[in-house]
Amino acid sequence: MIEEETLKSYLKAGESVKKAKKWIERLVKKDVKLKTICEEVESLIVRSGCKPAFPCNICINEIAAHYTPPANSNRLIPDNSLVKIDLGAHSNGFIADTAITVNVSSEEDELITAVNEALANVERELEPNIRVSKISSIIERTIKYYGFKPIVNLAGHQLKQYKLHTGFIIPNVRSIRNMFTRLTPGNAYAIEPFATTKKGKGEVIGRRGGNIYRLVSKRPPKMGFARRIFLEIQRKYKTLPFTTRWLTDLRKKSHFQRAFNHLVEKGYISEYPCMIEVNNQPVAQAEHTFVILEKEVITIT
Ligand code: MN
Ligand code: MN
Repeated sequence: MIEEETLKSYLKAGESVKKAKKWIERLVKKDVKLKTICEEVESLIVRSGCKPAFPCNICINEIAAHYTPPANSNRLIPDNSLVKIDLGAHSNGFIADTAITVNVSSEEDELITAVNEALANVERELEPNIRVSKISSIIERTIKYYGFKPIVNLAGHQLKQYKLHTGFIIPNVRSIRNMFTRLTPGNAYAIEPFATTKKGKGEVIGRRGGNIYRLVSKRPPKMGFARRIFLEIQRKYKTLPFTTRWLTDLRKKSHFQRAFNHLVEKGYISEYPCMIEVNNQPVAQAEHTFVILEKEVITIT
């Protein structure tokens, strides 16, 4: 069972990202600053009474996931690109996670059709207690039908209060490992098909420099500026992902970077690797969050 208040929070977070998504097609254009788009998406979420559940991700072409521009970035949307915007809002820690891919004059438009259709096909079959393997196989079949490759090492996931990735994963290809795992009532799950071209490896590799982090230690360092940074992150973002772009006041201090690096090196903070297609082929993504009830499934995003 899911508590009424919890469901309300999920629906509120869902409405928030739905509103923000309506603006994305208009925002994402050639020569627009990546940072402008992310800040606009994040502020739309705040204006609808929620908080960003993670920094707005903006991943272009072969970059599949986990990139947000740093505060000093002047990067622009290039021509001929597939632009993935992955956004999340939370209300009281209950998260709505969703993503769309925008085509900026790229010839790989069909990749977007493939992932959108994969997600739509899953949505049509979703029911309480559906097996993970059934979802994976729908995604894999749809993407391959278009002659593309699913990304084998990116997956959907369960969501819990203040936890973006928890429980089991929902792979984009069928695997015998989760034959008996099911999506059970009372829980929320994000399902996110990723596809690349025939020339792609169908696999991503992690690199540094995505500018997305999360707290992994429960205890702050004993003293100093690093402790202050830790406590502010803990108060504002708890266990959810954040970016240094958000730490506006702390970043003004001259010793910020040194103290922040210390927190990363000592394992208080962990950096999400930026995920890149192994053969540098373009990637498209679609994502929705679903809440499973006793007798029905609600698409909240
Ligand atoms: Mn997402
Ligand atoms: Mn997700």
